[in-house]
Amino acid sequence: MNMKVVYSSIYSKHDPPHFPHIENSTRLELALDALGEVEVLSPEGAGDPLEVHDGTYVEMVRRASEAEEQIDIDTYTNRFTYESALMALGGAFTAYKVEGIALVRPPGHHAGRYGRAMGAPTQGFCIFNNIAYAASKAEGRVAIIDFDVHHGNGTQEIFYLDPKVLHIDLHQDPSTIYPGTGFPFETGDGEGKGTKVNILFPPGGGDDLVLEVIPFIQSLLDQFKPDVVGFSAGFDGFSGDGLASLEFTEASFEALGGLREKRRWFAVLEGGYSVGLRRGLPAFVRGVERKPEEPRPKESKSEVKMKFTRSLEETKYHLRERWKL
Ligand SMILES: [Zn+2]
Repeated sequence: MNMKVVYSSIYSKHDPPHFPHIENSTRLELALDALGEVEVLSPEGAGDPLEVHDGTYVEMVRRASEAEEQIDIDTYTNRFTYESALMALGGAFTAYKVEGIALVRPPGHHAGRYGRAMGAPTQGFCIFNNIAYAASKAEGRVAIIDFDVHHGNGTQEIFYLDPKVLHIDLHQDPSTIYPGTGFPFETGDGEGKGTKVNILFPPGGGDDLVLEVIPFIQSLLDQFKPDVVGFSAGFDGFSGDGLASLEFTEASFEALGGLREKRRWFAVLEGGYSVGLRRGLPAFVRGVERKPEEPRPKESKSEVKMKFTRSLEETKYHLRERWKL
């Protein structure tokens, strides 16, 4: 069985209108190329952004797109952005239905209900929150595993009070990188308390740290018993991808894909700009398909490892009331 990939040419029409930008249409060519032979499906239609966003924000995006205006210093629009973003929502939901990967643009995990989320300086290239849309339309309990190198602040904000969504977010230490959120003490609120999990990697962190944290994530999943696992799949943590300082390689992305185990799953593309798409994305697919090649993990320096262990202890400390750890 071939991997199912949800793609539409409209996703490649959202492109920077005035200046070069790292988040551009060549990314999806790179991703499709890296995956080789796959079954390409079209999104079943546009999604309704009001499911996860406020009407005033949706209208602002529509107008900005019409005028090809920047939303902020990081986040551009062109005249295809609005339609592309609506179809990206639909594509994420299609991926949920068919158990495949949505290769969508614009990306989504930094987009909160009103746009910028949790006081972030910008929307970080994101327009509508694709993974949040698919999760909100999914049946039953959803575990979102966001392994983009940046914190999924939009997703966390949208589901902060929602106990039906377990959001586990792995990212570079937010005191060293955009958007500056996603600390261990951010665990959700009200009934959702304890269902938002932030796992931080110090700059320089390698595959050994990801492998160390896998059993912890497995234990959360075993206790939560999700009906579906949705991956907010960013590949910008890959060593040398360009925007961050982590040193993940194939070993990390294979192991992260393997977290699916035998559960229903789907994935939605977030970041990943060069080598991450070329090498991280196919490794993730091998993990999901349970055909691992188990490449040699890249080791972190001992001081990085020590920082990570301390930070993981802090994450567990803040979760101790909800989970057996
Ligand atoms: Zn990212």
